[in-house]
Amino acid sequence: MAAPKFYVTTAIAYVNDRPGLHHAYECTGADALARFHRQRGHDVFFLTGTDENAPRNEVAAKAQGISTRALVDQHAAEFKQMADTWDISYDRFIRTTDPDHVKGVQEFVRRWIANDDVYLATYEGLYCLGCEAFKEEGELVDGRCPIHPDNPEYIQRLKEENYFFRLSKYEQQLKNLYRDRPDFCVPEIRRNEVLGWLDRGLKDVSVSRRNLTWGIPFPDHPEHVVYVWFDALINYVTGVGFGTDEKKFERWWPCDVHVVGKDITRFHCIYWPAMLMAAGVELPRQVFAHGFLENTVGRLSRSSGNMIDPLAAAAEWGSDAIRYLVLREAPFEKDSPISAEQFNARFNADLANGLGNLVSRTLKMAETYCEGLVPRPGGDGASEIALHATASRAIEEHDAAAARLYFADALAAIFTLVDGANKHYQLTQPWKLAKDPANALAVAASLYAGLEALRIVAHALWPYMPNVADSICRQLGLPSPAAAPWPDVARWGLLEPGRRVHSSAPLFPRLEPAKL
Ligand SMILES: [Zn+2]
Repeated sequence: MAAPKFYVTTAIAYVNDRPGLHHAYECTGADALARFHRQRGHDVFFLTGTDENAPRNEVAAKAQGISTRALVDQHAAEFKQMADTWDISYDRFIRTTDPDHVKGVQEFVRRWIANDDVYLATYEGLYCLGCEAFKEEGELVDGRCPIHPDNPEYIQRLKEENYFFRLSKYEQQLKNLYRDRPDFCVPEIRRNEVLGWLDRGLKDVSVSRRNLTWGIPFPDHPEHVVYVWFDALINYVTGVGFGTDEKKFERWWPCDVHVVGKDITRFHCIYWPAMLMAAGVELPRQVFAHGFLENTVGRLSRSSGNMIDPLAAAAEWGSDAIRYLVLREAPFEKDSPISAEQFNARFNADLANGLGNLVSRTLKMAETYCEGLVPRPGGDGASEIALHATASRAIEEHDAAAARLYFADALAAIFTLVDGANKHYQLTQPWKLAKDPANALAVAASLYAGLEALRIVAHALWPYMPNVADSICRQLGLPSPAAAPWPDVARWGLLEPGRRVHSSAPLFPRLEPAKL
């Protein structure tokens, strides 16, 4: 029987800004989920990429005296570099300037036209060039966009003929969707916002812009381009073949989880399902809206001047460590304050003192007291039995939390086993036992349990810290956890006695106070 498929996406990054830590954070959560499913033998497709058709790119390119294409190429490369530096294991990095996306968007819009879901009308109102979105008069603060308070020039008064999408027609179907599928949008706090919008009623929305030369031409009406937000959403279907490769599309669609920021749930939980209904395409299974990284003055991004650069962060802490730190310090399901100091404290406590110490002491003791070979288990005492129980509970709790994208809880569960193994050594003290040859069985039992705990930790950590997990497995003489069949591999007692193990350089040298 074929393995179950799993299709996960991130939102695509708007290329006007440089990559921020919030982009890396979203990609890391989606990546952990993709790896979690791959490790369980599922056939996974992971899509991320860049949103490049905004009119503002043309303005920015003109100002720099380069072509719009050159500008978006340069910015897309920065996002790809960020994803690669953070070991984001995407199967496709889609760019909305890719020819198959352009073709797929036009096919998608043709279906709306065929379904009588678009009509021409005059739009008159305000538009923020920064958000590339229409604004209500009441949303502005002192005539400025609340998201772009430093850029009064972004607000334009527009009056133009646009194509409108009959969103209002889908109001009842959307209400039925949320009634019938309570987990369509999670966590619940986001779902409740969506229900509030539905209660207030839906108006038709403009889905084209007129007289722009950058963007995807509206089918049969090239004087219009598809409004960039709608073109961007359609990447989730074109990324797996919609409009160009029907076989591939059938293989992967519907998407299992769209991972998005909580600020764009209106687009993903109202517009996107309605757009799909109008095009006659099945709905995705779930939208997961993660929270924001915050510091004392708000969301971390370049425009607010409070950003930890994701490349600098990977260089400072290491790519595996920073992946751990963002997911551990900023629970995916809610907003979280973060700082470099907080990351350093967590690094020293969990990684240097916790995991790093467990790895180095376990392997060094195996070398010193067991000639570098996995000892034969047997004669387990209370501490070994307790550690085995801790391992079973940790895996159970981890799997339940990770499956619902509660990664901070998932990692906390794994670290109960790290802490449990370190406590096990404090209790059994193999370094003292080893002084008397009569204790050989007890030493072997203690170290076998420690090695086994470490093996299970490494396998559970692979979705979050793939390089560290590989390194621990190499030290245990085992292949990468990437290919190990879950959950069988998490069963206690699989480490074979007599296998050669060896210690390596420390995984996490302790950090000095934050430099960033
Ligand atoms: Zn704005």
